[in-house]
Amino acid sequence: MRILITGAAGFLGSHLCDRLLAEGHEVIGLDNFVTGNRENIAHLLGNEKFSFRKHDVSNYIFIAGKVEAVLHFASPASPNPQSPSGYFNLPIQTMKAGALGTHNCLGLARSNRARFLLASTSEIYGDPLVHPQTESYAGNVDPVGPRAVYDEAKRFAESLTMAYHRAHDVATRIVRIFNTYGPRMDLEDGRALPNLLKQALLGQPLTVYGDGSQTRSFCYVDDLVTGIIKLLHSNEHLPVNIGNQTEMSILQFAETINQIVGNQGGITFVKDARSVRDPQQRQPDITRARQILGWEPEISLAEGIRKTIPYFKQKLGIP
Ligand code: NAD
Ligand code: UDP
Repeated sequence: MRILITGAAGFLGSHLCDRLLAEGHEVIGLDNFVTGNRENIAHLLGNEKFSFRKHDVSNYIFIAGKVEAVLHFASPASPNPQSPSGYFNLPIQTMKAGALGTHNCLGLARSNRARFLLASTSEIYGDPLVHPQTESYAGNVDPVGPRAVYDEAKRFAESLTMAYHRAHDVATRIVRIFNTYGPRMDLEDGRALPNLLKQALLGQPLTVYGDGSQTRSFCYVDDLVTGIIKLLHSNEHLPVNIGNQTEMSILQFAETINQIVGNQGGITFVKDARSVRDPQQRQPDITRARQILGWEPEISLAEGIRKTIPYFKQKLGIP
């Protein structure tokens, strides 16, 4: 297949490029580097099956020749208000990437009669009142809260995707991605894994926000990519959760990182680090992914952290 991936220079986009190229597909990567990094795709630039376009998805996308699939991953993704690349600090760009970007990608898919896959998110469930989160749960999102620029853009993107499926018969797929981590995450984007693993490797105390009782479930990137590719090749047009079900408190998560790294720096609790209420608990119900895709994660948290450490050490200049 000839596949367009938006957000190709980002964490997830670059791993998808790698996997799809390894499977023999031709990949066109598109990115404007607002939160991504050229280094993430530098190793692909000599590959004759890979080409790259610097472009903002919020503007009309022209691709010469036939495209058979469009994977829309371009969007700021970090909720950390302290990070310049977090969506709190890129509010309009985030809404445009989710709304106008999704529209442009769907238009491109429609005109090419190509498959379209949307990278949606567990954030569409907001601060969930149903636990674990099933795809049938409609969510608890404040449309005017600061997190809304991301959450509502993704909710709109899902609605628009379903509209193109229903009105124009586009073969659409929607993946609701839960917290995912691995090599090529931006060490400075303020998300939990980069912040805490970086601090642990530098021998510093780990910054746990609030009292650390809020929960998450962390999925290693290779597992996620496998699930996404299975979804792309499936016939499922309704949203599918992809994530790891091993739920833990953020305090437990920080303690696990300290233990694996052997960090003696301990933990420091940071009150009010987030200007709005953090989602208090998050765990995907992956029954549909199991049934429809035959997918479930295989990599444990300890194994995934060990696989991520060499990249972080290299970035930090630690031998
Ligand atoms: P990332 O910031 O590493 O990657 C996003 C990429 O999109 C970056 O390279 C950025 O430069 C690019 N981009 C942003 N706006 C753009 C625009 N207007 N035009 C062109 N390129 C643009 O983040 P990520 O973690 O790889 O996330 C990728 C996608 O997956 C996002 O859509 C995000 O919402 C979704 N997602 C990620 C997670 C996760 O845990 N990593 C969870 C849920 C959803
Ligand atoms: N978090 C933390 N310390 C940090 C960074 C994040 O305690 O240095 C917490 C954050 O408050 C949230 C969880 O870790 O409860 C996951 O945060 P992340 O930014 O990775 O994404 P989210 O799941 O909130 O979208």
